[in-house]
Amino acid sequence: MEALTSPLEPFNFVTDLKKIESLAQKKSRTHFEFSQWLKTQDPIEMDEIVRQISTTVAAGIDCTQCANCCKALVVAPDYRDVHELANHLEMQTLDFKKKYMKKDTDGDFVFKQKPCPFLKSNRCSVYKSRPQLCRNYPYLDKGNFIATIGRVLSNVFVCPIAFNTLEMLKNKLQPHVIT
Ligand code: SF4
Ligand code: SF4
Repeated sequence: MEALTSPLEPFNFVTDLKKIESLAQKKSRTHFEFSQWLKTQDPIEMDEIVRQISTTVAAGIDCTQCANCCKALVVAPDYRDVHELANHLEMQTLDFKKKYMKKDTDGDFVFKQKPCPFLKSNRCSVYKSRPQLCRNYPYLDKGNFIATIGRVLSNVFVCPIAFNTLEMLKNKLQPHVIT
């Protein structure tokens, strides 16, 4: 497969969250079939293509107008994140856990509230100390795209960057498939 070397075609991004959720639902069968086809492709080459496309998409979407991941997802910080957040808020780690965290049904510590308690006016109020999961979301430029395609197929319901990246990827690799 030829890597992306030329500028990407102009693409109309969908940013309306309700529309994205509805389209993701309608396209779920096609997305699944596409994901199965992706598994037959070169993973390293695919990571590079996805990195280029997702960078273009992320540059065209304003996360401060969206913040949907902070509203819709439950964050599970690890112990380093908790330590960092407690420090940031000048709290003892134990007090932080009591105030903001609970155990979920799998026994993992997660933030009690959804939307995230640190989301203020659509912005992260602990941005410099935000958990690693938040820094990496929606994980498109972190490699292992094919191995983690199941996570991408979930994220397209929530995240405009994930949704539009997948649309552009399908458009580039399987332009003949009607979605
Ligand atoms: S990462 Fe995705 S869901 Fe989160 S704010 Fe940005 S576009 Fe929205
Ligand atoms: S910690 Fe910040 S980036 Fe992470 S979910 Fe909360 S508001 Fe969003």
